[in-house]
Amino acid sequence: MNAASFYPLFLKCAKVTIDSRTIEQNDLFFAFSGETFNAAKLAESAIDKGALAVILEQKEFENEKNNIFYVPSTLEFLQDLAKHHRKHLNIPIIGLTGSNGKTTTKEIIHAVLSQKYNVQYTYGNLNNHIGVPLTLLSIKAEHEIAVIEMGANHQKEIEMLSEIAQPNFGYVTNFGKAHLEGFGGFEGVIKGKSELYDYLKSHLQTILVNENDPIQVEKTEGYQPKITFGATTSDYQFEQFSKDNLVGLSYEGNHALSQLTGNYNFTNLCAAASLGFHFDLNFDQIRNAIENYLPTNMRSQVVEKNGKTFVLDTYNANPSSMTESLKNFSNFNGSKTIIIGDMLELGEESKKEHQLILDLANSLHFDEIITVGNEFKNVNHLSKSFQNSKELSDYLKNNKIESENILLKASRGIALEQILEFID
Ligand code: ATP
Ligand code: MG
Repeated sequence: MNAASFYPLFLKCAKVTIDSRTIEQNDLFFAFSGETFNAAKLAESAIDKGALAVILEQKEFENEKNNIFYVPSTLEFLQDLAKHHRKHLNIPIIGLTGSNGKTTTKEIIHAVLSQKYNVQYTYGNLNNHIGVPLTLLSIKAEHEIAVIEMGANHQKEIEMLSEIAQPNFGYVTNFGKAHLEGFGGFEGVIKGKSELYDYLKSHLQTILVNENDPIQVEKTEGYQPKITFGATTSDYQFEQFSKDNLVGLSYEGNHALSQLTGNYNFTNLCAAASLGFHFDLNFDQIRNAIENYLPTNMRSQVVEKNGKTFVLDTYNANPSSMTESLKNFSNFNGSKTIIIGDMLELGEESKKEHQLILDLANSLHFDEIITVGNEFKNVNHLSKSFQNSKELSDYLKNNKIESENILLKASRGIALEQILEFID
């Protein structure tokens, strides 16, 4: 059996899932083997739950009558099927990668394009070698455009994901200092993320370029087709404004205020608005999307609680996003406390990068600096430092934070959001 021969049955399936808990009538279930469960058992119970077909790596349990199919590699078959499906989809697919801001940009693009089209997009952060094929397989005949987030932490990953998603449009949100360990330093990041450009160029597809970013400009110089924003000579020219710490975008004298904070979100808005114009939306539609979009949990979310303003940015952190976040927060009016947690996965650059962030924080004159995690602890000898979120929450039971504004920013692994309930 191969992807082509299986395809007619796939088309009859309601949805594709790799999580046995979510199986419903007529689903296609990919039984990935795990250490703690038996894929063959899962396959049988999937059929009992009404699955239309099951893909399994264990030959001895194949039962085509029962629609249990053996493949040598569940993962490869999932990817092959996604590629095969892609070939049958005659819609524009927008591929996004970058070090920071992929999910946010994807969500805003989805919000904007949904004003006019039926748009499918990556759910949550399902942006890897499994998430990208699953997203593709969720595209149905009624969808008119798709927005696919592609994440990577090492070379050749974006190349592989591009081969699966085969985007017609591509955008690298930024080249930043994230996953330095896996990519082999910043040059490695540029090379790895540029694999999306390589794919688009070799297939003559359109690149969206932020001309305010010298790396994007350099990497796409002389290439056509492209859609540009960010410079006075760009296809689309936007101006930034802000109100109550929220970011807004102006276009030819029209204004749209978002519910997002952070200068970097202006760039994210510009990318989405440019695509909106490209796909024939008018400014009213774009404004409507921008004004109504609420960030998903813990990404630059502004929360008011007990008279204090919290910026929750605990979804992830790396030197680029931490720098942006601190600079943005330093512009808030009133007293300010920052609670910053370790930036993970920085490899041998880790100590230096944590020191640089701490130096930056010290130079921005916050009223109070609190760090969480061992990486910061190693370099933070001046202000309060805690080993983990638990230690900080214990401290907060007896100590108050007085500032009117509090920034919480850390890598996901630090679980910094859990201390929110201890601040009053
Ligand atoms: P992941 O690698 O976890 O998928 P992501 O690239 O999808 O991350 P988001 O989840 O959208 O990124 O945003 C994470 C954080 O990155 C935000 O909370 C914000 O601090 C920062 N950020 C968002 N957009 C940008 C941008 N354009 N440039 C730099 N930093 C950004
Ligand atoms: Mg993401």
